[in-house]
Amino acid sequence: MSSTQQSGGGTATSAVPPTSTSTPRLLPSASGWWYLGGRRLVLLGPAAADAAGRLDPAVERQLLATGAHGPTPVRAYALTALTTTACNLGCAYCFQNTGPDPRGGSQPPRIDGSAMSRQTARETVEFAAARMAEAGLDALDLHLSGGEPLLNPAGCRDLLEFAGPRGLRSARLTSNGTLLTPTLAGELAGAGLRSVRITLDGRREEHDLIRVRRSGGEGTFDVLMARLAKASAATELRWELRVNVSQHNRDGLHALLDQLAERVDPDRCQIMFALVNDTGVGYRNTLARDADLVDRFVGWLGHAAERGFRIRRPAATRPDLGGSSRGRLGVVVSADGTLYGRVETAGRPDAAVGTLHTGYRPEAEIAGRWRGAGPDPALRAFRDAVDARVLDFLHATGRLDPPAQLPDPTGSATPAKPVGPVGPAPAAGLSACGGRR
Ligand code: SF4
Repeated sequence: MSSTQQSGGGTATSAVPPTSTSTPRLLPSASGWWYLGGRRLVLLGPAAADAAGRLDPAVERQLLATGAHGPTPVRAYALTALTTTACNLGCAYCFQNTGPDPRGGSQPPRIDGSAMSRQTARETVEFAAARMAEAGLDALDLHLSGGEPLLNPAGCRDLLEFAGPRGLRSARLTSNGTLLTPTLAGELAGAGLRSVRITLDGRREEHDLIRVRRSGGEGTFDVLMARLAKASAATELRWELRVNVSQHNRDGLHALLDQLAERVDPDRCQIMFALVNDTGVGYRNTLARDADLVDRFVGWLGHAAERGFRIRRPAATRPDLGGSSRGRLGVVVSADGTLYGRVETAGRPDAAVGTLHTGYRPEAEIAGRWRGAGPDPALRAFRDAVDARVLDFLHATGRLDPPAQLPDPTGSATPAKPVGPVGPAPAAGLSACGGRR
């Protein structure tokens, strides 16, 4: 079989190990420029770029020569599996809603609901294992998603069970947290789960306006905080707490961080803040992405760090592995076994790229379905402004380890050592639990 031939749902094995190429970023620093390469973070002098942020060609050549940027090896196949497309909450901003609740309540119509059977879980992992073999990968990163995946705990257990012998390297769960009892958290951790992402919308008074029970509209802050504290005490799970930022909650987020620090071990929690966009289904974020909001984001992240939480070190923009490889290095499998390029589109019939049984559809039919448009330019500029300040904060407070080197007074590139693994792209804002980072 040639290296380009399609085989029942994927591209055939290549002798060349797969790599991924991120997009480097250049951000202004307090003393020059931060260069966020795919491999290294580099602190450059002030003359390394012009006022418009264009790198000096000689500096760019130095960066390339030092290997700060370039393709990075892909070590594991990225499998996202929706154990169910149903949810017990009725958040107005959920991208899985198909419109606002016509009665103005907590039951917006959603994508069709289904739950993953044990047989589909088995076939999901077998599908991923076949793609891994084709790509020459022997490790699997599993993401359990939904809807609310814990509405189908058996599906979560099944996927972890089947993935275990297939090179499971990491397993994470995205959940609204309301169903995560200590017993279930212990079971899933015992089966290989390592981390859980949970979204908050502020303190109780703001969170309970948005993240409400679908059945009756009640708020979920108290039950979430109780679940978080007990599951954290009962397991070694790590937590990624995403705080959606909107006009509703911006004035209470320092207090929220203080409340969280009393409930969980901050050292096991990564905090991130994200702007929630209007998805056209009944929720509008009116926050201006201005200098004041940049100050607030930096202030919240700084406060989180001071309270001992982990915060993500800004990095180069890494492509979504499944979408950018057109299913070769990752895929999203919905609860009924339909395949998608992105979790945001799962459950939308016009976005499907195939099924577990038939494999990927002909590329000509699905070429536009693998990748999204990405953040709009204004959101990207806002994110850059925050990340530049965050890097300065991390550097000034000794949190970049080892610290980036000071700029060369000649303005030439001064490569710093890597400051740890390059993380996923920083928070881009989209709504819903399973959404984009
Ligand atoms: S945002 Fe998450 S918790 Fe809210 S309705 Fe959507 S899937 Fe459920």
